[in-house]
Amino acid sequence: MLKQVAEGVLIHQSEFIQSNAVVVHGRAGVLLIDPGMTGSEMVAIADDLRESGQPVVAGFSTHPHWDHLLWHAELGEAPRYGTARCAADIRAFLSNPHWKDDVAEELPPEVAGDVPLDLLGRITGLPAKTTQIPWDGPHVRIIEHQAHAPGHAALLIEEHRVLVAGDLLSDVLIPMLDLSAADPIEDYLAALRLLEGVAGDVDVLVPGHGSVGGAAQVRARIDQDRAYVHALRDGHDPSDPRIGPSAKPGWEWISDVHNGQAQRLAQRSERDGTPG
Ligand SMILES: [Zn+2]
Repeated sequence: MLKQVAEGVLIHQSEFIQSNAVVVHGRAGVLLIDPGMTGSEMVAIADDLRESGQPVVAGFSTHPHWDHLLWHAELGEAPRYGTARCAADIRAFLSNPHWKDDVAEELPPEVAGDVPLDLLGRITGLPAKTTQIPWDGPHVRIIEHQAHAPGHAALLIEEHRVLVAGDLLSDVLIPMLDLSAADPIEDYLAALRLLEGVAGDVDVLVPGHGSVGGAAQVRARIDQDRAYVHALRDGHDPSDPRIGPSAKPGWEWISDVHNGQAQRLAQRSERDGTPG
């Protein structure tokens, strides 16, 4: 069920939008990052860990979107963390008494009956500028930035040279901007610069969705994401393999995502009277 991608680091890839849950071995148990999507998958991860005598001792959500915030009772009651901004964002969302209906509307029909919402988003925000996940295991550096969602965190498992990128650096998803932010383009470019700054320390890249990559893929995907964001900024057609006829089967909808955000950015710049 769990597949090793580096020493002490395993993943489970969901069939649904290739979501990657990440398990990091610590001294007394594991850190579980973005546990997954469906109840049956999370139970299978819990069973796997129980069989190998590894309880979950900490959880982490890379960003405040439902597919990264789920949890299952079988995984136990370990503390779950996110950045302070991530936690504040989800707290505001959960304060709406109808939040479950809002999530239910977003659930794709093929998984909707098997997504447990009761424990969604029960995370503790780590104080701003926290640089490491507090747990008894290898150092996991928090690289916080504001691309894609408020308080989005990429994680660098330093001693195993693994970068967990959240929803950045995917081979199937294009950069999806946080269009509620004041300057989503610059936020995204700033995040890519941060990741570029650690690229030399990475041998294995695990994106939130898509294929695991090696060291060369880290730089290639940073370049690819940056080229996409530049094209979006400049109003050009991005020649991006993730969009259009070259998209992987099942990923054709990414073109709609692209058209949607291109349109919204164009409306914004019209409204603000800024060129481009
Ligand atoms: Zn996601």
